[in-house]
Amino acid sequence: MKQSRRRFIKNASVAALATGTAGFPFITYGKPISQKSKLGIALVGLGYYSTDLLAPGLQETENCYLAGIVTGTPEKEKIWAEKYSIPKENIYNYQNFDSIAENKDIDVIYVVLPNSMHREYVIRAAKAGKHIICEKPMAMNATECHDMIKACKDAGVSLSIGYRLRYEPYTQQIEKFAREKTYGNIQIVNAATGFYMKRPTEHWKVKAAYGGGAMMDMGVYALQAARYSTGKEPFSVSAQQFNPDPENISEVDETITFQLEFPGGIVANCMTTFSSNVNILKINAQKGTYGLEPFQGYKGQHGFLPRGEKFDFPEKHQQGVQMDEMCKAIMDGRPSLTPGEEGLRDMVIVDAIKKSVKLGGIKIQL
Ligand code: NAD
Repeated sequence: MKQSRRRFIKNASVAALATGTAGFPFITYGKPISQKSKLGIALVGLGYYSTDLLAPGLQETENCYLAGIVTGTPEKEKIWAEKYSIPKENIYNYQNFDSIAENKDIDVIYVVLPNSMHREYVIRAAKAGKHIICEKPMAMNATECHDMIKACKDAGVSLSIGYRLRYEPYTQQIEKFAREKTYGNIQIVNAATGFYMKRPTEHWKVKAAYGGGAMMDMGVYALQAARYSTGKEPFSVSAQQFNPDPENISEVDETITFQLEFPGGIVANCMTTFSSNVNILKINAQKGTYGLEPFQGYKGQHGFLPRGEKFDFPEKHQQGVQMDEMCKAIMDGRPSLTPGEEGLRDMVIVDAIKKSVKLGGIKIQL
């Protein structure tokens, strides 16, 4: 679909205002793609998530395909090239990454690097004139998010954050219950998500300089859940941190609990941890309690409703659906469901959570 950039931005703004979470108008930017039926995605960073989830997901997509890779590990080049038939000229490393600008096969760059590297690679990708998907959490803090959004706006490219759950039907059902007040007004939300991080570990996820910690890794799911299951934006947060195993996890938070206040008297009680497998979203409303357990797995979710009823949907590859939807949005010249502004919104709250912890758990107004 061809349309002028001005029209794209206008459409994007209107669509964004219509679909954004209440109280936060999303405006995203992007340039229309010429008449391609499938967009070429290049994955940057071939670690766990790219290898186990995104590349397999790209074998099931209709609107995009795995066109290229960016890696600092030469051995991976051969393995990926053979496995996914990636031509030599679509394989980059971190030194020659910027020359990807000349590559017409690559329409979208998907940043799947440690959190501390998101800002740099999103900005470099924007300067290369490519549309961008960036993994969660969007960046180290809200200031970095602003830089990234500005770089994309200046370059006229779109930016989406890899909040895969927002594209799958269980989460969309929870959003619908809030929108339609199916069970009346929501009163309390409980969201907990975490996993047992094997130890000892040298992984970047336990290093502060890389943006590690349970809050950045898993806590953003609980935070997102509190926001999308109410359809509202919080006006205050308080938070507490616990590090019961400092020999192994000391630089970053092992466990964080945080409480959010929303308009309408709603309180969300959230927790995240590297000390145990927890994964539940429970919403108390006037007419009963419902939710998801697990709520943020790659598969195997289940929905529960008041009076012991359940709901389930056929399983699809979450990441495949997410990338298909994001690329469709790019081709249509509209923002995705999770533009950069959505990542920013979370990082403003994550910054406040960190501030509250530092100040002994006091309530921070947002
Ligand atoms: P990972 O450690 O498995 O992979 C990171 C990749 O970055 C590796 O290939 C590594 O070689 C590369 N890298 C390049 N420069 C590096 C450096 N200086 N230090 C360390 N690694 C470097 O991590 P991952 O679990 O794949 O996470 C990557 C991103 O994806 C993170 O932002 C994470 O939050 C996100 N993620 C999202 C989901 C999801 O469900 N949406 C799931 C897992 C991870």
